[in-house]
Amino acid sequence: MSLRPRDLPALHRVLQHPDAAPLLAEFPKALAHDALRQELSALRGRLEAGESLEEQEAEPAVLIGRARDALGWLERPALRGVINATGVVVHTNLGRAPLATTAAEAARAAAERYVDLEYDLAEGRRGSRQDHVEPLLRRLTGAEAALVVNNNAAAVLLVLAALARGREVVISRGELVEIGGSFRIPDVLRESGAILVEVGTTNRTHLRDYEGATTPETAALLRVHPSNFRQTGFTARVQGEDLARVAHAAGVLFLEDLGSGALTSIGDEPTVGEVLASGADLVTLSGDKLVGGPQAGIILGRRDLVARLRGAPLYRALRPDKMTVAALAETVRLYLRGEQLAVPVAAMLFADPAALRRRAQRLRRRLVALGVGSDLVPLEGRAGGGALPESPLPSFGVALQGAPDALHERLRLGDPAVIGRIEDDRVVLDVRTLLPREDEALARAVADAVRAGV
Ligand SMILES: *Cc1c(COP(=O)(O)O)cnc(C)c1O
Repeated sequence: MSLRPRDLPALHRVLQHPDAAPLLAEFPKALAHDALRQELSALRGRLEAGESLEEQEAEPAVLIGRARDALGWLERPALRGVINATGVVVHTNLGRAPLATTAAEAARAAAERYVDLEYDLAEGRRGSRQDHVEPLLRRLTGAEAALVVNNNAAAVLLVLAALARGREVVISRGELVEIGGSFRIPDVLRESGAILVEVGTTNRTHLRDYEGATTPETAALLRVHPSNFRQTGFTARVQGEDLARVAHAAGVLFLEDLGSGALTSIGDEPTVGEVLASGADLVTLSGDKLVGGPQAGIILGRRDLVARLRGAPLYRALRPDKMTVAALAETVRLYLRGEQLAVPVAAMLFADPAALRRRAQRLRRRLVALGVGSDLVPLEGRAGGGALPESPLPSFGVALQGAPDALHERLRLGDPAVIGRIEDDRVVLDVRTLLPREDEALARAVADAVRAGV
């Protein structure tokens, strides 16, 4: 017999069922009641919409089971672990850089106890949170001074607000870019209170364009790394050194937003040290792109300018927390100790293709042992995060047999979730972006997903 609305049990009847007691023992009463009410009203809604339902759908034990499932969010961590098999090293949707083990440990140690974040233990007085990381960044890059804020968007905003509010900032039309999400250079400039002065054309900007635009109202010339955006063909971009010369002859600042930046040499990305040496007064970059640390914005350059940033009211709203300070300091320390391969992003970027091939072969053999058909395939990975967009990273992986969309969905919904790519109508998994010792978990997750599909 099919269910009628008046057959739905009242909440107090459901609560008399023996299964209700364990539910109420496990979850706060108000939440458990709420979940049961929602199950009942969902059934009512379906009946009123004319759906025909079996009587057992309204049985208290069934309703309680559903309520328990619906309360799962209370028990699961907010973020779920994902195996990144996309081959994109700095993947913003997947949380960008996985931290080095010691950097994660440093963040955790700072998180669960009191620390000397703003306390100078030697002097017994107030200190600065910047003192834990600034000397390390100075030593690594040769910069006079450094400041860490919440992210690179905050770094650019702070620099412009503190040094150019109400004055003009000259930028090439070819660099008025949007960098994923909602970071658009013209919007950030407006938000900072600086006045945007565009020079050149979309494809070509010359030194004389900047020279002609520099007036007594000018605070700075700004250069922005175009990140994922590339122009080819009839283009021209002015060298940093030339811009620095023009800026300084006119008595204005030369600022450079590197985006990804690179603390050490990676591909053809300029290193922070090189950019500073070419005459930039301040550079800004992300902590969690090529640097491979926590989300942070890193500002490097002239001591007097950094002092003004530290004194700006906006700085207080953008400062990093203790976990960020701890993780970034530890990441920079790894670079200084010559142990940058302990930084996962660096290890992935510098991975030897022959080693990747062997790893992909081992993965394929393991999949075969688990009964999963796959082929070894050459792939092209990417640095991501707007860095090195023109330099694909030769990589290897496996291509799985089976209908790609359905298989990729089952991989995504598995535990751990696996994110790969679909190429030539097959799911491909790139081993470059696997963490050390993630291979077995990946093989099992793939085997589960393949089995669930047959
Ligand atoms: C990524 C990027 C930003 C924004 O950095 P976040 O750390 O994500 O805030 C700004 N400028 C450039 C050029 C970038 O590539």
